[in-house]
Amino acid sequence: MSLIAELSIQLQPLKNALLNIIVPLESSLEFVEDDLPEIAFENLQTTLSELFCKIEKLASTFRSGRLLRDGLKITLAGRPNVGKSSLFNSLLMSDRAIVTDVPGTTRDCLSELLSVQGVPVLLTDTAGIRASSDVIENLGVERTRRALSDADLVVLVQDGSQAFTAEDEKIISEISNNPYIVALNKSDLESFTFDSFESTKHQQSLVIPVSARTGAGLDTLCTAILKQFAGTESYDSGLLVTDARHFDLLRRAGASLISSSDLLKRRASEELVLVGLYEALHLLGEITGETTPEDVLSHIFATFCVGK
Ligand code: GDP
Repeated sequence: MSLIAELSIQLQPLKNALLNIIVPLESSLEFVEDDLPEIAFENLQTTLSELFCKIEKLASTFRSGRLLRDGLKITLAGRPNVGKSSLFNSLLMSDRAIVTDVPGTTRDCLSELLSVQGVPVLLTDTAGIRASSDVIENLGVERTRRALSDADLVVLVQDGSQAFTAEDEKIISEISNNPYIVALNKSDLESFTFDSFESTKHQQSLVIPVSARTGAGLDTLCTAILKQFAGTESYDSGLLVTDARHFDLLRRAGASLISSSDLLKRRASEELVLVGLYEALHLLGEITGETTPEDVLSHIFATFCVGK
């Protein structure tokens, strides 16, 4: 099923809930003579708030939805020799990056597109942030900074077989504006330690032991990367909004509902409250197909059997 079809299905109950708010307000205007039940303002207010929350929740899936559709930019960072290029290669299962024992040999940023559990990922291996007198290496450092500022997520690679260094510390401060997770590499070595010392360095971030050499922990790393984006924002049905226009329509519908909700709270006239509600109905209709005045009327008749 297409995403738009799925979104329309998800929006149908929300539109019905909106109609259920519109109907009593509209009926009290249209059929003043008829003996209609009193409007239960408290209930309308509650339904309106619930509706607003659902629309907002759906809209808030937009960032992850867009990222998962368009792809994630993941950048590997870390001091030289921690195994960034090796990890890059293992993740790509190819040998594109030059792996070497000499620190600072990966002078440029390499990018490759790979599919992580079906999600397109543009993986970039960086030259490492190192002050250097070497002009070529400095060029790489500049590119590294750019790749870092572009990244949706940084994977900070650290060598778990060695003690934490001042250089590691410096790199953490360089990337601290980015969301990052830590790949604690070389878990295959005997000297590897994964102690609380490492975790306390990264209080806000996940630390995942991996071995670029044996491939251990790479699946966990990939799952952790995706989890950063699918996270807590998912809608009940798992549906993600990926279209900027839909996001905009949902946000505007939410804003209209809020203005009606404020008016309802202040017991403003039904006409005023209805303006925002119809606006929201119209905006949702741009996604699902328009709701005509006749649809509203037939909803009124179906609810109250008035005027028959
Ligand atoms: P970079 O400078 O951060 O890109 O590091 P490289 O990928 O060039 O690796 C530096 C050295 O560490 C090389 O000798 C690699 O073979 C070694 N290395 C990288 N990953 C691992 C690993 O998981 N285990 C072990 N034992 N060695 C590794």
